[in-house]
Amino acid sequence: MKIICIGLNYHKHAQEMGWKLPTEPVVFLKPDSSLLKNNKPFFLPDFSENIHYEVEVVVKISKLGKSISAKFAPRYFDEVTLGIDITARDIQSRNAAAGYPWELSKGFDGAAPVGSFVPVSALEDVNNLDFRLEINGKVVQQSNTSDLIFSISEIIEYVSRFFTLKTGDLIFTGTPSGVGQLKRNDKLVAFLGDKPLLDFVIK
Ligand code: MG
Repeated sequence: MKIICIGLNYHKHAQEMGWKLPTEPVVFLKPDSSLLKNNKPFFLPDFSENIHYEVEVVVKISKLGKSISAKFAPRYFDEVTLGIDITARDIQSRNAAAGYPWELSKGFDGAAPVGSFVPVSALEDVNNLDFRLEINGKVVQQSNTSDLIFSISEIIEYVSRFFTLKTGDLIFTGTPSGVGQLKRNDKLVAFLGDKPLLDFVIK
């Protein structure tokens, strides 16, 4: 499986990063070795001094597809959850300044924790989902999928022009504002509505 991620997909996050708003989705990949499941702890790596959290809505592809139009995109995913796009911000800044790819800063082992999945059929509207991240009991990020610059269907239409989507592939849809640094012993809980879907600690 592959993990497709969208960058800069909320206005306020693009602003806080000092990046211009994209006119097309900003796409990068994480390898399957970055996946962290079952609320396992994340171990801070020794190659970065500034590891950041980015909470994101994650959709799971349920059917093989290529060049999917936005209109039919809802047929291609059946579960959603929350994930953290863990980012070595110092490496990302260095690589971005040099015009190099982001992968080392976002694709390392454990950089893609994902929570338990919820069937789309149990949700009223995937384009109107409240979600938030709490660290040590305090809300640090909070948004709604209606604030996405590119909606889930638009993302699927765009990325499937380039990549065949396969059952089990994940799409991280982008983070809202409020990103920040992770510290040892932080406890992260990500909520979809009032449901905690992801709950893990930093070591
Ligand atoms: Mg992100």
